[in-house]
Amino acid sequence: MKNRFPKKELKLHGTPTSPGIAIGPVYNFKPLTINLSELAIKIENVEAEFRHFENARRKVLAQLLYARQVSEEHYSNQFSDIFESQKAFLEDPVLIEEIREQIHQTHHSAAYVVSEILSEKSEHFIKQENEYFRERAYDILDLKQKLIHALLGISIDYHLTNPAIIVAEMLSPADTVQFNRNFILGFLTDQGGKTSHAAIMARGLRIPSVVNSAGLSRIIGKQDFLIIDGFEGSIILNPNPETREQYEKLQKKYRRHESSLTKQARKEARTKDGQKVELMANIEFIQEVSDVKLNYADGVGLFRTESIFIERETLPDEQDQFEIYKKVAEQLDPAELVIRTVDLGGDKLIKGYSAEEEANPFLGWRGIRFCLDRPMIFKQQLRAILRASAFGNVKILLPMISNMKEVQKTRDLIEQVKKELQQEGHAFNREIAVGIMIETPSAALMAAQLAPLADFFSIGTNDLTQYVLAIDRTNNRVAKSYNTFNPSVLRLIAETIQAADRNKIPVTLCGEFAAQPEAVPLLIGMGLFSFSMNPFSVPEIKQVVRAIKKDECGELYRDVAKLSDEQAIEKTCRQFLDKRVPPLNLSK
Ligand code: PEP
Ligand code: MG
Repeated sequence: MKNRFPKKELKLHGTPTSPGIAIGPVYNFKPLTINLSELAIKIENVEAEFRHFENARRKVLAQLLYARQVSEEHYSNQFSDIFESQKAFLEDPVLIEEIREQIHQTHHSAAYVVSEILSEKSEHFIKQENEYFRERAYDILDLKQKLIHALLGISIDYHLTNPAIIVAEMLSPADTVQFNRNFILGFLTDQGGKTSHAAIMARGLRIPSVVNSAGLSRIIGKQDFLIIDGFEGSIILNPNPETREQYEKLQKKYRRHESSLTKQARKEARTKDGQKVELMANIEFIQEVSDVKLNYADGVGLFRTESIFIERETLPDEQDQFEIYKKVAEQLDPAELVIRTVDLGGDKLIKGYSAEEEANPFLGWRGIRFCLDRPMIFKQQLRAILRASAFGNVKILLPMISNMKEVQKTRDLIEQVKKELQQEGHAFNREIAVGIMIETPSAALMAAQLAPLADFFSIGTNDLTQYVLAIDRTNNRVAKSYNTFNPSVLRLIAETIQAADRNKIPVTLCGEFAAQPEAVPLLIGMGLFSFSMNPFSVPEIKQVVRAIKKDECGELYRDVAKLSDEQAIEKTCRQFLDKRVPPLNLSK
């Protein structure tokens, strides 16, 4: 029947978390929300109430186990960790005892006590500025919801009968895997961020997803039609026919592009004339290991460890760190894991340790400078990394090196730590490679002198560009002049590669420049055959590598070396690439 009251198109903007376009009807997933005051009933038999809680807890554990099984059946063990950490939370004896005590003391219902305690625990994470920790809050709130449902005997409907875009206030990993994969067109949630588990899973499943939908889940319903754009974050409710047609075209284009990338994803990154190129991934969180594998990266070329340190009440100790590094190393083994020692300072500060207000934090107490001034903190991290090296192919990378002394001092500290570990009987790799970031102008200019002190170089173009051009990488006002194609930066990159080659040490590039398709032929032309980038760019860069010849790249580099204008250089590189990989135009 024709709709007598056509709905008006409504355009909103959210945060894109998994690429792709989804177009279709809506399935509004609304697990019942319960009013706290309804739970605030007093009970007589506190022991029976605690047993009731224990039964509910076991039920939720069984749900998590089931979700894990479904996930493993369909998606192998990429997401197992997510369920493991929720399970560990529910099995924590301290939490169970806290709930038992509260029931005994307050005579409140278990549902009320669970709601209070888990809300409080999630509060702590919600307040954090760091997105990763805020996401952990959602995991706790999800468990709260599931426990209360179990306590009140409410079951949740995951039954999709037709393809639909799932719209929800928030989606947990356990919720995500229980829908029939064949019917999920996309995810749209009111809450969440790029590192939310649901977002990571959506990317793993290659399902478009957008978060931060401004509370749309409260007003949207079965009768609505939706478009979500996982590239730009656009959300279009009840699109008019023209908009819908526009997005359908875009969707087709992207699908064609994706299927050609997927076909090549498992193949080797080798140029047409036989040069093998290593494509590694940059990660920040343990959960991203699944992104590394799904995108067929050769390993992790940069594990940024700042998130383990920032936004915590207390510093992570050696054991906390060891467990994280060990897990990542084991999951990647035999592939390489390059762990970068903590690069605090600049825009990444930790409680209680940030220096008094610095006028120029990017030129201040940052990276290796901070670590060498705080040897206790540094040693703990070095011990944790070394211990983890017994469980995988681990390497150490030092950030923000600007002189030889910093490398020498760190190497001495590493030797000292090795001795201590040996005396204590810990296993570790005695030959662990220690590399340095080349990301300051002084390090690049001194690359030939630094090379004998380093087992490998990793060029950090994000910082190198900021320091060479004197342009703050976080300042939008000057962002238009921030360009790694500037010949001054390119010259330092080329010289660093040459210094590494002369000293026969491996060199890689781990700044965002590695993920810029038009930069890759130029870098290969300079003699660089190892790149590390965000995991999602790996398939695209692999496509580039497979479409070019090393010899032609050499010619490109020689042509570019004659140019002194960054725009002209960028254009030359773009044209070179467009001839070999037809550009994907996703503009509407
Ligand atoms: C870089 O500076 O290029 C780099 C990879 O390090 P970060 O972005 O963490 O500073
Ligand atoms: Mg850097």
